Formats: sequence, C-alpha cells, structure tokens
Amino acid sequence: MLTSDRVKAKARDLGFDLCGVAPAEAFPELAFLSEWLDLGYAGEMAYMVRTADRRADVRAVLPGARSVIVTGTIYNTDRPYSTDTPGRDVARIARYAWGDDYHDVLKARLEALLDWIRASLAPSEVEGFDARAYVDTGPVQERVYAQYAGLGWIGKNTCLINPELGSWLFLAEIICTLPLEPDAQGLEQCGSCTRCLEACPTGALREAGVLDSTRCLSYLTIELRSAIPEPHRSALGAHVYGCDICQEVCPYNQAPPRSGDPTWQPRAGLDRPRLAELWRRSDADLRALTKGSAMRRAKLTGLRRNLAVAIGNSADPDALAALAQRSPDWPSAEEGMVQEHVDWALERAG
Ligand code: SF4
Ligand code: SF4
Repeated sequence: MLTSDRVKAKARDLGFDLCGVAPAEAFPELAFLSEWLDLGYAGEMAYMVRTADRRADVRAVLPGARSVIVTGTIYNTDRPYSTDTPGRDVARIARYAWGDDYHDVLKARLEALLDWIRASLAPSEVEGFDARAYVDTGPVQERVYAQYAGLGWIGKNTCLINPELGSWLFLAEIICTLPLEPDAQGLEQCGSCTRCLEACPTGALREAGVLDSTRCLSYLTIELRSAIPEPHRSALGAHVYGCDICQEVCPYNQAPPRSGDPTWQPRAGLDRPRLAELWRRSDADLRALTKGSAMRRAKLTGLRRNLAVAIGNSADPDALAALAQRSPDWPSAEEGMVQEHVDWALERAG
C-alpha cells in the first residue's frame, strides 16, 4: 500500500521542502471565491470567473478525487527586501520572479513525484487510479488545500504561511484518487497582528484575508493588460513586476530560511537592476533576459508600461532621459498604451 509517509519522503528526495495531504473535500473557505468574484475583486482575470465552478471543489477537476498532495518549495534568497533596498531608481521585482520560471521547474519535479506514485501503487490500487498535477495555473484554490494539508495557514495577507519557514513558498499539488492518510490542518497564527494590512501601499487588503486585486500592485503590473488607472500610478513606486511588501513586513518572514537551489537565484540582469538600465535594453535583449522566467507573463508592452510609470515616480534624471529617447530597437516602447504611460511619466517629472 502506498502511504502518506512514503509519498512525503519521496517528495523530500525530489527537492520539495514541505509536503502534506489534504482530503479532497469542499472546505468552507472554498465557498468565499464566488462572493469575492461578485465583489469584482478579480478585475480583468476572466479565467477566474470561467473556472469558478471547478475552483469550488477539486472533485469537479478530478471526479473520484480522494486526496490532494500539496508541496511547498522555499524560493527565498539572500538578497534584501524591497523595503530595505535604497534608491527609487532601482527596479522592484517580486522575489519569486528573479530566477527560473517556477511553473516549468516545479512541474517537472511534480511529474517525477507522480511517476513514482504510479510506479509504487500496489496491484489493488492500480485499477481506477487517476491524478492531476498542477503548479499554480490549475483551477484549484491551492492555499486552502495547503492549509488543510498542514503546511501552514492562510494569513491576513492571503499568503500561505508556515510557522517555521514563513511564506516565501511555491505551492504545487497532485490531486489523486488514492485515499491517503490526511494531515491535521494548519492553525491560524496571525493573532492580533495587522502589519500587512497597514503596509499595503494601495489598501488592496480590504480586510483580513480579503484582497481586492484591482488595487494590488501584483495585479496592476502583471495581470492587467490595459492602462494602469492613474490614481494607482504613484503608489506603484519602483515596482515593475509584482510586489512583496505584505510578505516582507510579516513577522514570520523576518529570518526566513534561504534556498540554495540555483534555479531560484537572481539572474544577473534581474538582481536589483536600475530602471534606466532596464528601459535602455532593446526588445530583443529584454526577451533574452526574461526567457524561461515568470516575468514573461507581463509581456514586453506590460513591462515597458510598468517601467515608464516607475521612472515617472523615481524622478531619476538618467532614467527620465532614457524615457525621452527613441530607438528602433525598442518597438514595444512605441505602442500606444506604453506611450501614454511615457507621456504621463515625463509630465509628472516636469
Ligand atoms: S502585494 Fe503589494 S499591493 Fe498587493 S496586497 Fe500585498 S502589499 Fe498590497
Ligand atoms: S503581517 Fe501579521 S497579519 Fe499579516 S500575514 Fe503576517 S502575521 Fe498575519
């Protein structure tokens, strides 16, 4: 018989830092999604609406599912937090996007775990066995299952927090038909702390655990394809891809463990680059820099749009001079949407 303990031991061998098992049930926390969508907090993320039914219960993703094996992988490195990085002329890029794209890296590890599970099934378990492996992009509310798999709790900043490891964790899961022994759920340990709610620069955390994505810098700089609404542009500061502030201020992230995995270490060009340096890169160069990186999600025009706003906020003379330049090597900078942000930035800087 395949046991939870054997699966967890194999997950550790494959490089996952955490692994737990949740029963495939419709937990009460899953039901909040439809209320959240009704509030309009998903913004332009239409895929959230399209997949809402499946996100309500993993058994809608895999009929006959009995267990969700959830893994956690530390991606923190030794670089300082954005809030401790001096200089408004230095681009802020979310910590998870500095190295290789976690979707690709973890999918390969998760598939290896699933292959091992298939090969380890007892003859009586083989018939009817089915499974799905997802890294973030599946129609699964993985943080809820991570909590019920004992990996931690969902903090007021909406991140999964492990009491020992903090929240710099990639989550990935295998939904399967095996009735594995479940873990005890993680217990809430935010207590009376409200640091994340107070630190959010846009008030996106409307209340404990309730994120209005349309105000969140992660959404505005990554998911949003159209113009960034003007009232939010100043709050963007130097953020050009995502935002880590509500995690950086969390008490559970003040001495977090670091990963030695080379895949998560910052690429040279993404290690606290200056805004001017990023803007001056040609489109071909930016494509090469972000190849195989999660940053590709913002597309070149999205990245240029974000850079323009960040440069406008920086008031850095060198970056502003770069913004005022034209180059045939930067066709993405000529897109109408990008140009509107460039004009805004130059006007803001006077
Ligand atoms: S990621 Fe940034 S903008 Fe979004 S909720 Fe956290 S602190 Fe606020
Ligand atoms: S900052 Fe405080 S309230 Fe926010 S997630 Fe961390 S412990 Fe919870």
